[in-house]
Amino acid sequence: MGVRIGTTVDGQAAGFDTSSARPLLLVGDVGRGKTTTARYLTRWWLANTRRHAHVYAQAPSEWADLRCEPAHPDQLDEPIGCDCRPGACLVVVDDMDLLDDERLALLPVGRARTVLTSHGGNSLAGRALLATDIACLGLVRPENADPAEAAVLDGQGRLDWPMGTVAVIPDLRGPIDFPCHRWQAPAGAWMAAAMNPTATTSREDAS
Ligand SMILES: [Zn+2]
Repeated sequence: MGVRIGTTVDGQAAGFDTSSARPLLLVGDVGRGKTTTARYLTRWWLANTRRHAHVYAQAPSEWADLRCEPAHPDQLDEPIGCDCRPGACLVVVDDMDLLDDERLALLPVGRARTVLTSHGGNSLAGRALLATDIACLGLVRPENADPAEAAVLDGQGRLDWPMGTVAVIPDLRGPIDFPCHRWQAPAGAWMAAAMNPTATTSREDAS
């Protein structure tokens, strides 16, 4: 099944195919909702308590309210997901620009669900991951669009995005999906953390 994250420029629903091991890459300029969308997908995935997530983020504390043990990309040093139950695993990298190709090769691309974010542009040029079969969505905002985004909204492609990137206007998200710090964690998340001592420990380590 798919989890909707927004609407394409021509009005179609766009989202994450949770039945596919094809990685989802979210690209976009700063402030377009890459982390927010990745958090939303992770929260959705974790709503089923039989599933888990491996999260690598530049700011692990922004993920401290979710039932996972967020780590910095520097801590990614061995293959992920090899011992995980098939279908239970989601790997999130926010953002992949922090990882060289050698580290990206440790991801279970094609074996488990993977969500990556990137600012796009030069950081993606020549990356090995783009040679694999990925779904790439480019996040744009409809209001106050800059010239490159205005062109995308007119149905033109962007040269700094991978070939075949589909432009998406993300759905509006509630506060629970925005990057979070432990002192901002909603009451529900604190309760979930209290019931999961592992998560509480990582929350304290996170900052
Ligand atoms: Zn796993």
